[in-house]
Amino acid sequence: MRKVNRRLFLLGGAVTAGGTALWTVPSWVRSASAAEPVIRYPFTLGVASGDPEPDSVVLWTRLAPAPLNGDGLGGMPSVNFTVSWEVSSDSNFTSIVASDTTIAVPDEAHSVHVVAGGLQPDAWYYYRFKAQNHISEVGRTRTAPALDAYPSSLKFAIASCQRWEQGWYHAYRYLANDAPDLVLFLGDYIYETLSSAPTDVRDCTITDEVDTLAQYRQRYAQYRTDPDLKNAHAAAPWSVVFDDHEVKNNWAGNDPTATSPEPGAPPISLARKGYAFRAWWENTPTRIPQPTGPSIAAYRRFQWGTLARFHMLDTRQFRDDQALDGGCSVMRSTTRTITGGAQEQWLLDGLSTQPSTWDFLGQQVFFASRDGDGDPATCSDWSTDAWDGYAASRQRITQGWVDRGVRNPVVLTGDEHRHWAANLLLDYYAGGRPVGTEFVTSSISSLNPDPDPDVSRMSRMPHVRYIGNRRGYVRCTVTPSQLVSEWIAISSAFEKNLANVTASVMARYAVVEGVPGLQSV
Ligand code: FE
Ligand code: CA
Repeated sequence: MRKVNRRLFLLGGAVTAGGTALWTVPSWVRSASAAEPVIRYPFTLGVASGDPEPDSVVLWTRLAPAPLNGDGLGGMPSVNFTVSWEVSSDSNFTSIVASDTTIAVPDEAHSVHVVAGGLQPDAWYYYRFKAQNHISEVGRTRTAPALDAYPSSLKFAIASCQRWEQGWYHAYRYLANDAPDLVLFLGDYIYETLSSAPTDVRDCTITDEVDTLAQYRQRYAQYRTDPDLKNAHAAAPWSVVFDDHEVKNNWAGNDPTATSPEPGAPPISLARKGYAFRAWWENTPTRIPQPTGPSIAAYRRFQWGTLARFHMLDTRQFRDDQALDGGCSVMRSTTRTITGGAQEQWLLDGLSTQPSTWDFLGQQVFFASRDGDGDPATCSDWSTDAWDGYAASRQRITQGWVDRGVRNPVVLTGDEHRHWAANLLLDYYAGGRPVGTEFVTSSISSLNPDPDPDVSRMSRMPHVRYIGNRRGYVRCTVTPSQLVSEWIAISSAFEKNLANVTASVMARYAVVEGVPGLQSV
């Protein structure tokens, strides 16, 4: 027995009811080997878990004693380090169910992605890491229910858009306090550029626009030092997908000649895309192989027994280039795609096999039509970056789930920096019965200017039921008979002191099983 750094008890979940200051030194505690230079406390970026399966979950950390170092390596010597991990069914780590060691390597920025296996389905666990004599904070995670189980409920949250310099991450404090089973992050985990200073509430100390591997790594490290973000990652497993700002604003596809829709912006180099994907992978608890070049196998699915399935999409890497001139003929082209052909087929095949009660499409950009003048002959106000800019892609997928008899399709969306709730239709001009539902989460901190022009156009978009322009997240409670979704907003992301910040449910809608579309509750 020995006394340990009190920090562990303050930050970790391992404090006992009695508040004992003693820590039983685990058997896996060891000193630095000769090959490992002694390092300072390396778990400055916290811990995370993700992509839960019935028998396993991905555990993540990254060693970074000096997280903001300009070389992107977090102050780590360029040698391999041994990292131990353990999973316990109790927060005191008296019932260890899995443990092992792994190697954190410089080539992966000393990130660790452990697949902790052999776990029980539908169970909560605690986990922690150790490097040399440093012990990480404790994370809480869980497995998914057995594939053939029919759980009575699932509570998850969706979040997106956490621009560091534009706000404090109070929304994550409330999200974590909800104790969700699962968090879906739908894009804009970092921003590659800095916003204009007048709106900033905290300094982003790093270069104005990141484009090297070191800079992308450094940007992730800065975001991951935020205590509310760390706390939210430590509260539940996440499933994370990227949007555009993890690479470059509005990037489209893997064609190196594709232009950004910003006039005069140069194409994004394949090398830069590779750096961005690599740094994203290094910094998220994602169950995919490390990308080794300018492409990444990011779309994937997982399920919650037969209650729910989550189809996590990549609407960036395989899309056609944006319609730069906003031309209707381009946006309406029947061959147009935002998913690419292979992913579209994968999605439709997945929707038709092994039915679950609820099918969630976790994805990046606004799905429903937004034609503010209600005139199908004009498209000048369509978003070229969202599914409106790829209308045929949306039509094939919507018709595809209707044809396959998918009972409860729900599209989950980020990117907008506003809350939205909308019904999905086969024909947005003819109207008719909803064939699906879309929940759009606002940003955690990223700004959107007021006033919201879309509010004045809502009368011409009757499928849209709610728009809210405050920072926050969306909370969903799923049961066999209905889904209840709540749009949560915080009072301010500019106010630093959490004690002065409140959170409110701004809108609440239900979707009844077998009856697509929003219903008031
Ligand atoms: Fe964003
Ligand atoms: Ca129009």
